[in-house]
Amino acid sequence: MKPAPFAYLRPATLEEALAALAGEQGAKVLAGGQSLVPLLNMRLAAPSMLIDINALPDLGHVRVAEDGVRVGALARHAEVLGSAEAEQAQPLLAMALRHVAHPTIRNRGTTVGSIVHADAAAEVPMVLRLLEGSVDVASVRGRRTIPAAELFAGPLESTLAHDEIAVEAFFPALAPGAGVAFQEIARRHGDYALVGVAAHVETDGEAVTRARVGFVSVSDVPVVVDVTDAVQDPAGDPAATALAELDPAEDIHATAAYRTHLVKVLAPRVLAAATDHARSRAG
Ligand code: FAD
Repeated sequence: MKPAPFAYLRPATLEEALAALAGEQGAKVLAGGQSLVPLLNMRLAAPSMLIDINALPDLGHVRVAEDGVRVGALARHAEVLGSAEAEQAQPLLAMALRHVAHPTIRNRGTTVGSIVHADAAAEVPMVLRLLEGSVDVASVRGRRTIPAAELFAGPLESTLAHDEIAVEAFFPALAPGAGVAFQEIARRHGDYALVGVAAHVETDGEAVTRARVGFVSVSDVPVVVDVTDAVQDPAGDPAATALAELDPAEDIHATAAYRTHLVKVLAPRVLAAATDHARSRAG
């Protein structure tokens, strides 16, 4: 299928892009196009104008500092995945990105675009929530930082205002004594997950002081559940704790019962792996 007609703008500066976005209610930002273009072609979106941000300067960075990893709006998934420094600072990002689509799509799709697209079946939005990261956004009105906990409003809906462009995502570094793990089940590697689960565990010596689990493709927004009490209780059941807060959906890819089963299998596995990871880093 072909998209409905639209105007196309490729601004050379962020200021120009923000002014154009503020001036055209029906405009949409085009980054890697790996989610937006299929929506246009299927006519599930019909913006009056596409504002292509690919010519904007200074947005292609993957910058690693002591506090974490900063990913610019034009950094492709492949560039983030290719950064050994980023993987060292926050291994969960690379663990999850290896499951995002295929190399051709990762070469073009942006990590920030995936976050703004806010697909509950996508790995990166959940990882940003689990790590308690944030996104910096700009508009003609100024700049603000949106914490990941306030970023996802509903299916394919972020809390960015229409005139805002996300310029950078921040993934906090893995603290000493903390560990992470990620696993997902998909029909083929690179397909969207039937269910994906990540864990972030904090330890003090042998004791687990905090344990949280994040889920992909289970609800209509990325969900994170605190399972610390269930992990600390020898009779606790972290998967049951998580499922009490989840409502796995049924669709053409999997039944709700199958998704529930995958949560029960994967949650204990990633929690065990993240705990081992934390202890191996402490030791
Ligand atoms: P675009 O498609 O350009 O934009 C997506 C949306 O975000 C649009 O609404 C756009 O207006 C908005 N947007 C983008 N950037 C900004 C910005 N900086 N500021 C404001 N708004 C912005 N993803 C996964 O997570 N897991 C998968 O397994 C997976 N499999 C895929 C398989 C296929 C066959 C394809 C085609 C895609 C797949 N994807 C998958 C999606 C891919 O990761 C996309 O690249 C990503 O979701 C969106 O990034 P993009 O740069 O292409 O954004």
